[in-house]
Amino acid sequence: MQIVRTVAETRAALRALRSKGLTVGLVPTMGALHAGHLSLVRAAREQCEAVVVSIFVNPTQFGPNEDFSKYPRTFDTDGKLLEEEKVDVLFAPGVDEMYPSGSTTFVTVEEIGDRLDGASRPGHFRGVATVVAKLFHIIEPDKAYFGQKDAAQIAVLRRMVRDLNFPLELIACPTVREPDGLAMSSRNRYLSSEDRTHALTLSKTLFHTEQRIAAGTFTARTLIDDAVAALAAKPHIRLDYFRIIDPDTLVDIENVRNGALIAVAAFVGTTRLIDNLLTAPR
Ligand code: AMP
Repeated sequence: MQIVRTVAETRAALRALRSKGLTVGLVPTMGALHAGHLSLVRAAREQCEAVVVSIFVNPTQFGPNEDFSKYPRTFDTDGKLLEEEKVDVLFAPGVDEMYPSGSTTFVTVEEIGDRLDGASRPGHFRGVATVVAKLFHIIEPDKAYFGQKDAAQIAVLRRMVRDLNFPLELIACPTVREPDGLAMSSRNRYLSSEDRTHALTLSKTLFHTEQRIAAGTFTARTLIDDAVAALAAKPHIRLDYFRIIDPDTLVDIENVRNGALIAVAAFVGTTRLIDNLLTAPR
């Protein structure tokens, strides 16, 4: 595995791979890797001849009171894991390399980018879209892999790829969960063992809602009211949102019969966690 730190080195490494005619898969990450990230790497490994992973804790997607400075950074362990997955190139730039001083150009995905987490975290998706657009330009992948765990991110990036004509396929991979249902997240490291138990309420509420849909409750309002009541009854959880929405537009839907995205975000202690389920049409 070649570790590259600069845009110029990365372009040179990619030129060498493409001169051999290899298809390139990109997996963007912020590091602190877990099995969810590795599932994306494996999908890329299966579907592409060369795999590039980026590790970059992107400051522009963090709000002023968010966890940018304390976000977990575990570069040495991450590198070993990626080596074991037979990744070809690891791109790990510094902030100055990605945002040279005087950078003033940003990508804004209007409307969708202000919904869901974009509403709770103003400017978040502007940072995400900007850094991902830059990675797409630097690496020029054939396919790029993202986790369904960040469902709003997928909607925003799909729209960006379409609107800005990026010549690549965006692939959404299923959410990887702990055996008890907790969605894997780098931020789970922040949780105390009690908080971790409280955090299980998120996935449990999603699965319970899915069961109610399977049993014939299709009205979003009913499902939401019951889920919000269940979450509000938990003293250790501070709900941000529980929504039932169209997965492409992130707009609320009234009836789940045609399929829906059920999405939740909540603070457990000081840690903001998100999770979601996609339901199939009935
Ligand atoms: P992050 O490092 O949190 O920015 O995540 C990098 C990529 O991994 C994103 O596309 C995430 O959606 C994806 N990801 C994070 N957690 C999971 C998970 N539990 N299952 C699948 N993909 C995930």
